[in-house]
Amino acid sequence: MLWSAEGDGTRPEISRHALTKLLLSRLPGECVRWGWKLVSAEADEDGKGKGYNLTFSTPPSQSQGQPQEQESEREQTKEATTATTAIQTETIRIKADLLIGADGAWSRTRPLLTPTTPQYSGEQMIIATIPDLNTRYPALEAFVGKGSLIIAGDGNAAIGQRAAGGAVRFYFVISSQDDEDLAKTIGLDYLTRPSEVKELLLERGRDNPENISATNNEDENESLGGQDKKKKGKITTHWRNFNTWGSLPKSLISTAIDEHFLHPTADKLAKPIDMKPMYMLPVGKLAWPHRAGATLVGDAAHLMTPFAGEGVNLAMRDALDLASAIGTAWDVTYNHENHDDDDDNSNDSGHQHQHQQQQRQQEEQRSESSQEPERDIFLGTLDPLLQDFEKEMINRGEAAAEETWTNLQLFFGEDAARKVASIFQQL
Ligand SMILES: Cc1cc2nc3c(=O)[nH]c(=O)nc-3n(C[C@H](O)[C@H](O)[C@H](O)COP(=O)(O)OP(=O)(O)OC[C@H]3O[C@@H](n4cnc5c(N)ncnc54)[C@H](O)[C@@H]3O)c2cc1C
Repeated sequence: MLWSAEGDGTRPEISRHALTKLLLSRLPGECVRWGWKLVSAEADEDGKGKGYNLTFSTPPSQSQGQPQEQESEREQTKEATTATTAIQTETIRIKADLLIGADGAWSRTRPLLTPTTPQYSGEQMIIATIPDLNTRYPALEAFVGKGSLIIAGDGNAAIGQRAAGGAVRFYFVISSQDDEDLAKTIGLDYLTRPSEVKELLLERGRDNPENISATNNEDENESLGGQDKKKKGKITTHWRNFNTWGSLPKSLISTAIDEHFLHPTADKLAKPIDMKPMYMLPVGKLAWPHRAGATLVGDAAHLMTPFAGEGVNLAMRDALDLASAIGTAWDVTYNHENHDDDDDNSNDSGHQHQHQQQQRQQEEQRSESSQEPERDIFLGTLDPLLQDFEKEMINRGEAAAEETWTNLQLFFGEDAARKVASIFQQL
């Protein structure tokens, strides 16, 4: 153990379940329409930010909590439902004046704003939970401790976080720079016996850490995708399992594998362990040209790997700042109030001043053209605030993305454990 600390309570953790419950508890029930999936988001015909057409679909047999839409639109699109399956899905189009893409890594809203897409980070993650660690595995509990545990070495890592009820949640991470489909390549995604999985992940000689990429002909391979390259026999998958780790970390992995297979699926079939490639948006290229009436928050705006543990913090800060901007524009439009004056959560004072000036200008415009619909005044007031919001969000996101990328390189590089420990010593 290179570094251990009790912490001073200034970096609290909260379970995702509790956080979701807390946030939802303040929303009127009808705000959230569960089960509806955004299929596409497109700018309305004129393409000048005057609204967006959103297409939603329900999962099969969904019948409640439908988004508000004009009945005629639903009738039209009902014809386009999936009629080939026994249970129909329903498709609905609605029009939105303001579109906020908070739809995560594979956002359907992002393509409207930027052609940037997530790229493979070179790391693969297995998520595992060991329930009742405190009562069932006291030796492992003592090793994990009361908060978080990080193990790093030989290109792999494990992160453990204590969860509610004495459980611990683990993220086991395996590096494979050249193979996005590692689980399939090494056969993990069809192994259904714990002994086979342990052999693959923990025993010597089951991995391929050798760097033999010099034998590849990269020119020939350039136009081929990952799996096609392997079919051609040109690319060899490089990865290490955990066989070089110490006995306690290996015991954690072994226990997590056993726990996984203790809980078969409803049809009693053992489910293979799920290992997923991790993705990130390219660092330094998060910004997009502003588009009126549409924006992104959270992972949709700045997807990064979890190696700085900032994703949720950033997403919540984005939401807070955006809500503040929308509240300001709403008050100027409908209440003739200056929202920033009494808003403790608003942004930096320089921006506040700028916002106030913009609001005054908007109010002047408003009185000059009293015929202008309030919708346009609202969107016109919001637009400069939205631009400021995006600028700050991207700056904040870029800083965290840079830190995350640096951490990733430390976690999986040479002498990882010592370098990771030194980060925590400096906190
Ligand atoms: C393994 C792992 C561990 C992590 N650990 C941490 C950590 O310890 N600390 C931390 O701060 N961050 C961590 N993160 C990152 C964190 O989870 C994300 O940054 C955070 O969840 C982003 O929140 P979000 O609301 O933007 O996106 P999400 O949490 O991804 O939420 C997006 C929502 O949109 C919905 N959605 C997606 N597509 C559609 C669609 N087409 N139609 C309708 N709804 C849709 C999804 O169902 C989901 O509910 C971790 C991430 C991973 C993958």
